[in-house]
Amino acid sequence: MCGRACQFIKPDYPALEQAVHGRVRGIADEMFFGPFQAMHRARMARPKVGAQWTGITTSLAARLLEQGKVDAVLTVVPDADDLWKPQPALITDPADMVRARGMRMGYSPLLALLEEARARGFTRLGVVGIPCQIYALRALEAELGFERLFVIGTPCSDNTTTENFHKFLALLDEDPDTITYLEFRADYKVELRYRDGRQRLIPFLSLPISDLPSDFFPMTCRTCVDYTNALADITVGYMGGEGEQWLIVRNDRGAEMLDALGDDIVLSAVGTGGKRAGAVKGFIANTALAAGGLPLRRMPDWLRPVVSWIQPRFGPKGLEFARARLEMKAAETVLHLRRAMPAKMKNMVPDHVWDIAAPYDLVAQEGERDPNEAAPRDI
Ligand SMILES: Cc1cc2nc3c(=O)[nH]c(=O)nc-3n(C[C@H](O)[C@H](O)[C@H](O)COP(=O)(O)OP(=O)(O)OC[C@H]3O[C@@H](n4cnc5c(N)ncnc54)[C@H](O)[C@@H]3O)c2cc1C
Repeated sequence: MCGRACQFIKPDYPALEQAVHGRVRGIADEMFFGPFQAMHRARMARPKVGAQWTGITTSLAARLLEQGKVDAVLTVVPDADDLWKPQPALITDPADMVRARGMRMGYSPLLALLEEARARGFTRLGVVGIPCQIYALRALEAELGFERLFVIGTPCSDNTTTENFHKFLALLDEDPDTITYLEFRADYKVELRYRDGRQRLIPFLSLPISDLPSDFFPMTCRTCVDYTNALADITVGYMGGEGEQWLIVRNDRGAEMLDALGDDIVLSAVGTGGKRAGAVKGFIANTALAAGGLPLRRMPDWLRPVVSWIQPRFGPKGLEFARARLEMKAAETVLHLRRAMPAKMKNMVPDHVWDIAAPYDLVAQEGERDPNEAAPRDI
C-alpha cells in the first residue's frame, strides 16, 4: 500500500490538505509552512529528560493515551542494540512514551505496524511521524478505516541510513559511540551530547560535509517538498523557535491536543528577524555549482570562524530562518531533480514549491510542470 501512497511518486498536496484540514494552504506563510490555525514558540514547563528538545512531541502523545482518546500511539523507539536506529512501536501505556523520546537518524517502516494495530482491534490511533511517513498515512487514511487519528508530525530536513549516520558521527569525534545526542540548531550550530554529560557545539561551517559521499542523503530527501509536515494535525519543530520549540497548529485536532497539555506547556509569540535573501542566494549558487551530490563549501578556512560568528548574530532568525530553510529546500528540489531526474519533475514538484522558488528565478522550464496545473501565484 505504501508503494502506491508514496510521496515521491506524484504527490497531491492540495487534495490531501483539503481532506485533512478542510482547506488548501493559502498565501504568505502558509505557502511555506502549509495550512495552520496558529504558530507558537513553546517549551514544556518541565523539560523531559532524554527528549530531543523539551519533549512536547512525546508529551502530546502521552496525554492522548492518559485521556483515553486513543487506544495506542504509533511511533519509533531505539533499537535494542543501537540507540540511533529507529524501530517502530505501538505504545499503549502513557508511561512508555518515555522510550520514544529523542531523535534517531534512519528510515523506519513505521506504517508497517498499522497492520498490527488493526489486528489488535485498535480503532483510535495517535501517530508520531516525519513528513514522508505522514504523507503515506494520509494518502491511505480513508482506506485504513480507523475511527479516529491524531497525527503529531515533526519537520524533517534530511534523513539517511543509520549506518551512514554512524560514519558521520565518526567524522565528528574520535569516540563516536559516546555521542548520545545530535541536533542541527537554529543558531547555525550542531549540538552534540555525550554519555558523560559533556556538550559540544560545532558551527555548521566547520562540519565535514564535503567529506561525505554524494549519496549520503538519498535523492528522495534532497527533493522532499514537505519539510514542515503539512498533513500533520500539529507540527512540533524548532526552526522558527529561536532556541525554543516551534509549534504549527494546523486544525481542530491539533488545537485539541495542545489544549490538553494545559499549564504543562509554556507558549509565547513567534518572532522573526534579519533578511533571508542573501543566505538563500548563496546556498542556491553553491547547490547549482556542485557537480552532483552535496553542495561543497569552498569557503577559505580563515574565513569560517568569522562567518560562524556573524551568522547567529546577523543571519535570519525565527520565522525568517524557517522561511529561508523552506526556500533552500525548494531550490534543492528543483536543482537536484533537474540534474538527475528531469522527467519526474512534472509529477514530483507541486505548485507550492514553484511558488517558493520563483523569487530566485527558479521557474519551470519546458516539460517540467504539469500543463494542467495552475499558473504561478503571486505571493
Ligand atoms: C530525521 C529527522 C530530521 C529532523 N529535522 C528537523 C529540522 O530540520 N527542523 C526541525 O525543526 N525539526 C527537525 N526534526 C524534528 C526535531 O529533531 C525534534 O524531533 C522535534 O523538534 C521534537 O522535539 P521534542 O523534544 O518535542 O521530541 P521528543 O518528545 O523527544 O519526541 C521525539 C519523537 O520523534 C520520534 N522520532 C525520532 N526519530 C525518528 C525517526 N527517525 N523517524 C520517525 N520518528 C522519529 C520519536 O519516536 C518521538 O516520538 C527532525 C527529526 C528527525 C527524526
